[in-house]
Amino acid sequence: MSDRVLVLLSGGIDSAVALWLIRRETPASEVYTLTIDYYRRSRGEDECAARLSAKAGVSSHIKISLPFLRELEDQPPERGIHYRSVGFPPVFIPVRNLVFYSCAAHIAFSINANKIVVGHNGEDVGRFPDVGAGFIERFNGLLRESLPGYRLTLEAPLLPYSKREVVQLAFSLGVPLEDTWSCWGTGTIHCGRCEGCQTRRKVFRELGIEDPTPYERINTA
Ligand SMILES: [Zn+2]
Repeated sequence: MSDRVLVLLSGGIDSAVALWLIRRETPASEVYTLTIDYYRRSRGEDECAARLSAKAGVSSHIKISLPFLRELEDQPPERGIHYRSVGFPPVFIPVRNLVFYSCAAHIAFSINANKIVVGHNGEDVGRFPDVGAGFIERFNGLLRESLPGYRLTLEAPLLPYSKREVVQLAFSLGVPLEDTWSCWGTGTIHCGRCEGCQTRRKVFRELGIEDPTPYERINTA
């Protein structure tokens, strides 16, 4: 019997690379994708997740909606003061990964998957409090306690890589970069001005890879 894998797919470059990587490394695996929708998540990212799943030929693209989950910028102003002052980005979702991983674990059990793959890169560690090898190890410990006798582990294969290395990997794996999303806005095309768009443009430029992304407006200043 082949393994069944559940990939948490946002529609961003990192999770797309994780999906392509798992397809290459375990070609016999049956792959499912899970996209978690939340408050004011961009439609463009959602469409990318669907297109990536189709192009990767996954067995099923599962989508769930948790509309109560809000990014820091969508929290009441008084709730976010501390986290903004210590430099957390506006896209930080309080307790995001415990919620996402737990939902993925529940779904993995119901489809009989024994591996969950997530796409955090090494630069996410330190930037967000709930990312990293130690966090994942502790979550896997909780998973063993929660589902005694059921073999299920969560893995983050891109933790050793920087954002730049992940984009390089995307290019070499043949990930359809035109179907990935980086914008922090809520629209259907990249705004070209937010930090997500600026990082995307910078990394493509530095690597000498043609950026296939249509941008609404580019800040040339
Ligand atoms: Zn943007």
